[in-house]
Amino acid sequence: MKKESLCLHAGYVPKNGEPRVLPIAQSTTFRYTSTEEVARLFDLAENGFFYTRLGNPTVDAVEQKIAALEGGVGALCTSSGQAASLISVLNLAKSGDHFVSSGSIYGGTFNLFAVTLKRLGIEVTFVDQKASDEELDRAIRPNTRLVFGETLTNPSMDVLDIERFAALAHRHGIPLIVDNTFATPVLCRPFEFGADIVVHSTTKYLDGHAVQMGGVIVDSGHFDWAAQGKFPEFCEPDPSYHGLIYTQAFGKAAFIVKARAQLMRDLGCCQTPQGAFYLNLGLETLPLRMAQHSKNGALVAEFLAAHPAVQNVKYPGLSSSADRALAAKYLPHGCCGVISLELKGGRQAGARFIDSLKMISLEVHVADIRTCVLHPASSTHRQLTDSQLAECGIAPGSIRLSVGLEHPDDILDDLKQALDPLIAER
Ligand code: PLP
Repeated sequence: MKKESLCLHAGYVPKNGEPRVLPIAQSTTFRYTSTEEVARLFDLAENGFFYTRLGNPTVDAVEQKIAALEGGVGALCTSSGQAASLISVLNLAKSGDHFVSSGSIYGGTFNLFAVTLKRLGIEVTFVDQKASDEELDRAIRPNTRLVFGETLTNPSMDVLDIERFAALAHRHGIPLIVDNTFATPVLCRPFEFGADIVVHSTTKYLDGHAVQMGGVIVDSGHFDWAAQGKFPEFCEPDPSYHGLIYTQAFGKAAFIVKARAQLMRDLGCCQTPQGAFYLNLGLETLPLRMAQHSKNGALVAEFLAAHPAVQNVKYPGLSSSADRALAAKYLPHGCCGVISLELKGGRQAGARFIDSLKMISLEVHVADIRTCVLHPASSTHRQLTDSQLAECGIAPGSIRLSVGLEHPDDILDDLKQALDPLIAER
């Protein structure tokens, strides 16, 4: 099936007389009649649900849908995008290990990597994703376990050269994890370019309506965990799971089964059945929404780039964008609705602009059906120092505009009435 059809049909096919719409299995637990059967479920010898932290029919249907959309062998929904990033890294790295991440990533992920994982003994090196291959190679150490980047970086809107990053990771025998939140599988499927694991904040476009917090990890099934001898936890008996060997028991799905059986079991950051239901509703219209977000985003980016109050606009779909060629390769169907801009007059002009908007609202959110705006340096990236902000590609006056699905005339009118007075002031 094509993506449009997968969004409607993957993961849940009702049998005769069953509900047409994915039902919410609002139950923490499931009844069985034999201890033998429950034991087989606990051994992972049989598929089935026994406790919602580890699996639930509603959540499972959405996991299957997202895995199908990304072209992976399996997926694990989490309570938030942060939990997805955390579990994806912890599934590969332990205390004493190291990983490499692009510095141009969401501020919350930056903090998770730079502060919290460091406290757990896992060290990160942030790299400039535009650095040369030689510089990137130098960041890799013998104990480096993975490389991480975002398809479209939040909020700087740079495009990750996924093939180059996958080649970097693979020549050192480690996997590439790509956060595909802004692109969604409708605009880019990182597995087609060599990524091994994909994560999302489903709180953003995948839901798209701002009604659900969530994340998801998708496993391509492509990485050979046994080949390099760097990942014994996949190929040797797991003492916390009565000696299970993930690669032997689950083959290509070893990563995602281990993430669920070991880390979701122990950390407990699961998606809820209700949350998965909302997420599924959003997913049903994802292709339509991404096409329109991208169309409106391109229109608004052109308008902003031509406005005399605007210093610069970052949107890879712009013909003037330095990432135009990367966008043509990785995002041929559009670059979503997120735009990064800076006004002449910096931080102050930015605050005046945001405060003057009428329809467009100031929200700690992005990638949503309604147009919203945010000043990252004073909100999502507030904990970062100026030099860390620069590493993430953010100027103190940067503004992140998330273009929604209102009529473009209304979006442009609101922007114009807030921007025009700033020209007179200069
Ligand atoms: N990744 C990206 C690219 C994000 O934009 C966000 C949140 O804005 C996250 C991860 C974290 O997701 P959540 O807020 O669902 O925890």
